[in-house]
Amino acid sequence: MPMHIETLSLISAIQSLALAVLLWGGTQGGPGVARTSLKLRAGALGVEAAGWAMLAAQAWLHPAQLLLVGNALNLLAQGMAVVALRMLLGEPLRWRTALAIGVIGWLGVGWFGVVEPDYRLRVLWGSAAILADIGLRMQALLHGGRRRSSRARVALLVLCSLSALLLMWRNGQLWFDLNPPANIIQPDTVNYLYVLLSGMQPLFLSIGFLLLYSETLQRELHSLARVDSLTGVKNRLALTEEGTRVLSQASRTRRSVGVLMIDADHFKSVNDRFGHGGGDKVLLALVDSIRTTLRAGNVIGRIGGEEFVVLAPDADLTQVLVLAERIRARVETTPLLVDGHLLQLTVSIGATATLPGDYELQALLDRADAALYAAKRAGRNRVMAADPEVAARELSPS
Ligand code: GH3
Ligand code: MG
Ligand code: MG
Repeated sequence: MPMHIETLSLISAIQSLALAVLLWGGTQGGPGVARTSLKLRAGALGVEAAGWAMLAAQAWLHPAQLLLVGNALNLLAQGMAVVALRMLLGEPLRWRTALAIGVIGWLGVGWFGVVEPDYRLRVLWGSAAILADIGLRMQALLHGGRRRSSRARVALLVLCSLSALLLMWRNGQLWFDLNPPANIIQPDTVNYLYVLLSGMQPLFLSIGFLLLYSETLQRELHSLARVDSLTGVKNRLALTEEGTRVLSQASRTRRSVGVLMIDADHFKSVNDRFGHGGGDKVLLALVDSIRTTLRAGNVIGRIGGEEFVVLAPDADLTQVLVLAERIRARVETTPLLVDGHLLQLTVSIGATATLPGDYELQALLDRADAALYAAKRAGRNRVMAADPEVAARELSPS
């Protein structure tokens, strides 16, 4: 089948440019870092397109021009793509490192292209620089970020391995073939295959990058949907998920789980006095007070305006009552400074724990809520236990 290096290069240039525009167009939404990485990836494709365009237009260019500028563009594109990928994976690479690889690669290519021309050494040198970039990609794909098992990562790892194999195959052909081509534009099977296959890479690598980008956004969205935007603690959805998980684990191991429902006392008057903004600051300070009292493994979530739930895995009723009393006392003894005024906030707490064979989250929350209501009725700033045998037990001072 007749093929022309120029035609193949032109197709690759158009394809890379189209992908660059598509990726750039997709950078409207998403969190800052992911968006920046997508822009950078689009930029890399644009630079790559320029490199392919030069190869397509080689007839009008001086060979040294093609060699020096074409390789500079190619190495720059590879470096930008590595920085973009590692940024997206949360494993940032310093620009200096990417730049050093590109510059060393380009100097070697220039040396063996212009000063002491040797095609095979030139290709070997350039390939080594690109292989270093591929290595940096694969290292981040294997070890970077928190979530390591993902389809996009596997797809990109396979593509990177194929790119590395293509480079090694090309060099092998140049060194061990009896009649190797003397430059990239010479009509030769090695050149055809190399240009054809490496011209396809931007398409596949961009799809892999977009998959990874989409996974990152989904993960971001997943966690955003589970955080209370004011206080940063778990919201009702996250607390329900975590509670269900903790309780099903506890039911398997037959361990007890303690639950507290905490409500700020007379919070409406806080808002009346300091305004809604001041009330928000008080809520943040309240969460801080509660948090400093919690132990590792305890979970706090905001389930309403100034209502919080604490889950205490492995705690029975007696233990969770001790925790509740600690929280109540901490809030009572921590004066809050709001807009230059001192405020003495108190909380009422309803406490309960799992009963043998009863690991239903909603039932626990209902019991804790009933106990909280009882604490409010009994005069506030106190802890009440829900369970019948200890319902009368009140730990707080009256
Ligand atoms: P009680 O002791 O009976 O709990 O009295 P309370 O005034 O705290 O009554 P209640 O719990 O029914 O009212 C909660 C108030 O908290 C009502 C609402 O204005 C306020 N609130 C709810 N969410 C927020 C919030 O996000 N920010 C602020 N500043 N206030 C909130
Ligand atoms: Mg209240
Ligand atoms: Mg309330």
